[in-house]
Amino acid sequence: MNTQVLNFYPSKRAAAVSSVPERELKWDRMEVILKITERCNINCTYCYFFNLQNDDYKQHPAYMSADTIAATASFIAQAAKQGGVQEVQLDLHGGEPMMMKKARFEEMCSVFQEALAGIPKVRIVMQTNATLIDDEWISIFAKYDVGIGISLDGPKEYHDKFRVDHQGRGTYDSTIAGLRKLQAAIADKRLTYGGVGVICVVDPEQDARAIFSHFVHDLGLKTMHFLLPMIDHDNIKPGYKEKMTHYLCELFSAWTELGDPQVTIRYFRRMLALLLGGEKFPESYTKLMANNTAYTIASNGDIGPADDLRNTFPHLFWTGANVRDTTLEEFYRHPEISSHNEAALQRHETCDSCCWSQICDGGDFVGTEAFRYSRSNAFNNPSVYCDTLQALMTKMVEFSVGRGVSFDYIAHRLNQTA
Ligand code: SF4
Ligand code: SF4
Repeated sequence: MNTQVLNFYPSKRAAAVSSVPERELKWDRMEVILKITERCNINCTYCYFFNLQNDDYKQHPAYMSADTIAATASFIAQAAKQGGVQEVQLDLHGGEPMMMKKARFEEMCSVFQEALAGIPKVRIVMQTNATLIDDEWISIFAKYDVGIGISLDGPKEYHDKFRVDHQGRGTYDSTIAGLRKLQAAIADKRLTYGGVGVICVVDPEQDARAIFSHFVHDLGLKTMHFLLPMIDHDNIKPGYKEKMTHYLCELFSAWTELGDPQVTIRYFRRMLALLLGGEKFPESYTKLMANNTAYTIASNGDIGPADDLRNTFPHLFWTGANVRDTTLEEFYRHPEISSHNEAALQRHETCDSCCWSQICDGGDFVGTEAFRYSRSNAFNNPSVYCDTLQALMTKMVEFSVGRGVSFDYIAHRLNQTA
């Protein structure tokens, strides 16, 4: 790859290109966040897509057109082939993906399946508020093997605090109705999933044990992810870290006290696996993630980085790269993207010498490089959640030693070099 390849960008910053180190763009796994709809039937007050700084959606079509779907499918197929990718996960996102008409949705799934047929493993997963689920949708999910993740923030009083409709009314009841329909479809074998997963946005003012208990005991859920709010060193409030530490440590205690191996909390399981080793887990988070890439495609076909950078670094979504005229390699070689990615590789000296660095890697395993950002030092900081993560990892070591794992073995895992 030479700088000429980048000249299709009529761009600013061409001079910066030659200084950008070239990295091999090969991955085992590719995750594509597809903004198939950029409208929503509800209006969560904390919504990062509609209600924070980045309002790109106002310039984009409400739904991905058939033409953009076809161009996107070709783009992903080419990117996967060029990158030697063995597994593609398509994350159908919005807005609310089920606002797309069912016929268009089916056509889209079929276009993607056909275009990506040569890739060994392809998964289609949808993130939804679940309020629109009906039997027709369930048949479509079954036909195209679409996995479902539901956004649910806990019991009604917690969920309805932020997740409201356009009239400000809580959406818990509608979300639970959708969840129950999915669970019924699984029970009577119309769907063959192992279960339904939920994503809960953490509010450290809330009671982690009450939320976990509601998910497990009231709703029968087994798979859950607790998403940490997108904050950085410039906007953290006093007392926030302490509350977050309490929340996550209580959540970990509740999870381990339950002792049900079928109940999974995404990054707890991953952190423990890194700590304790195992067939699929290398000795560091860096190695675990080295073979993965994630990027976003908007409803107009514009390409951007992982969606969780949308509000912290909106300019990364404005490179002009589009699936119709850009390859993924060209996107990653774009000066803005390349410079950002290089900067994000920095680790603060505290992280370099930290005993948790093999697992924590600057805190990136619970979120993104945005957690390390400050205007004064860019990414050259520990995670804004550093204290919380240290407390959590200490709890994990205590838990493991209490279950008979030798402390020397854990020390050995922590001391391995990446
Ligand atoms: S359901 Fe999702 S996309 Fe819709 S308003 Fe809520 S957070 Fe935003
Ligand atoms: S963020 Fe904190 S815990 Fe994580 S590696 Fe850096 S210093 Fe260690």
